[in-house]
Amino acid sequence: EASPQKEDSATELKDRKGFKGHDMLAPFTPGWQTTDLHPLVIAKSEGCYVYDSNGKKYLDALAGLWCTALGGNEPRLVAAATAQLNTLPFYHSFWNRTTKPSLDLAKELLEIFTARKMGKVFFTNSGSEANDSQVKLVWYYNNALGRPNKKKFIARSKSYHGSTLISASLSGQFSYSLPALHQKFDLPAPFVLHTDCPHYWRFHLPGETEEDFSTRLATNLENLILKEGPDTIAAFIAEPVMGAGGVILPPATYFDKVQVILKKYDILFIADEVICAFGRLGTMFGCDKYNIKPDLVSIAKALSSAYMPIGAVLASPEISEVIYSQSNQLGTFSHGFTYSGHPVSCAVALEALKIYKERNIVEQVQSICPRFQDGIKAFSGSPIIGEIRGIGLILGTEFTDNKSPNDLFPPEWGVGAYFGAQCEKHGMLVRVAGDNIMMSPPFIISPEEVDQLISIYGAALKATEERVKELKSQ
Ligand code: PMP
Repeated sequence: EASPQKEDSATELKDRKGFKGHDMLAPFTPGWQTTDLHPLVIAKSEGCYVYDSNGKKYLDALAGLWCTALGGNEPRLVAAATAQLNTLPFYHSFWNRTTKPSLDLAKELLEIFTARKMGKVFFTNSGSEANDSQVKLVWYYNNALGRPNKKKFIARSKSYHGSTLISASLSGQFSYSLPALHQKFDLPAPFVLHTDCPHYWRFHLPGETEEDFSTRLATNLENLILKEGPDTIAAFIAEPVMGAGGVILPPATYFDKVQVILKKYDILFIADEVICAFGRLGTMFGCDKYNIKPDLVSIAKALSSAYMPIGAVLASPEISEVIYSQSNQLGTFSHGFTYSGHPVSCAVALEALKIYKERNIVEQVQSICPRFQDGIKAFSGSPIIGEIRGIGLILGTEFTDNKSPNDLFPPEWGVGAYFGAQCEKHGMLVRVAGDNIMMSPPFIISPEEVDQLISIYGAALKATEERVKELKSQ
């Protein structure tokens, strides 16, 4: 996940200058930032707001990192964690020992995932671990079925699946990413292939409809499978809506066509629902929105509203069955983490799921999202905006010149970073990645807070338009 550019921070964040460095090797942070600028230290959260260590208040338009779905101080989640900490702060789930919260959470997840029937749940601590676990599950499954060559994975360009060795390999390269996910890390791993990013606005051919574009991408996918040999391809992984890659919505009929191809060649579909699950798109899962029938699902983030780290894999009955029935021959399913099914994380997640149900969180997102989407999309006419795209409570803005996907602003202008810094100045935190801006506010955002978000966005946009005008005239 990329960071603001040097240019901008130097001019806009003067009050954070003069910093002499700290002791953290900071994730996804360029070195110069940790030496040139004080970090923004967040000290407190309340509903959709966070406060920095100087007491300045910000509307948290990204919900942390797309995750604090219930906002910053939900007392029931705190109570659930406290009660569990007071009873059993930890026990593991190895060797057929486990805890009640993990059993209850697995059961609940299988009940609420209805896009298709799933069989079993494997717990992790994060989205990255969930996606790494997917690869091991799939390999184990194909070994159990006597298909040792069916091992390659197809992911998509601009996808984000995490930053461990395997999940970073699955992630696609971001052209704007500093630092890049693969470069300098000897990635991707050789068994990972990447196919097209389904971004219609940027990649469609002249005259091509969304449906035609989807057909072409499905054909490209099929050609890749045929070129590699269908017997070598194990699985395809996709986010229903691409998040960190710039909030990219699938074009019409895309997932229908992709699923036909995958079925044809007996290739598993892994839905990475780490951002989309639990209501973000206005449906309980992204798979519900796009009629995806996955074999495997990754979840994390809103699962616990981020109050405790937890992720999970949901596996189809067929895969679960093969893994259990074959592990007598192949040996124990030797995969797991000390904290797989951590009782405190599971207790918090159970409470989060209960709250989503009680408060009809999906309907709440559906009722608030037009105000959010329409309010921001009203700025589409801005001369520096190429495209605004979104659904539910997730939204991306891409700055380009002349309304064209090809007329990028010079990177050294730092247009996106300037916009992000303007938001910060006006009291709002957004995600900046090159000239892409992303927002995914908490599900509990109120109409007044949406209006404030839109008004800060508008102010930041106006300042950024002026800045671009100035840069152009130089
Ligand atoms: N998958 C997706 C779609 C994500 O957006 C992310 C995180 N942004 C991950 C996986 C990785 O999750 P984590 O950071 O919890 O490892």
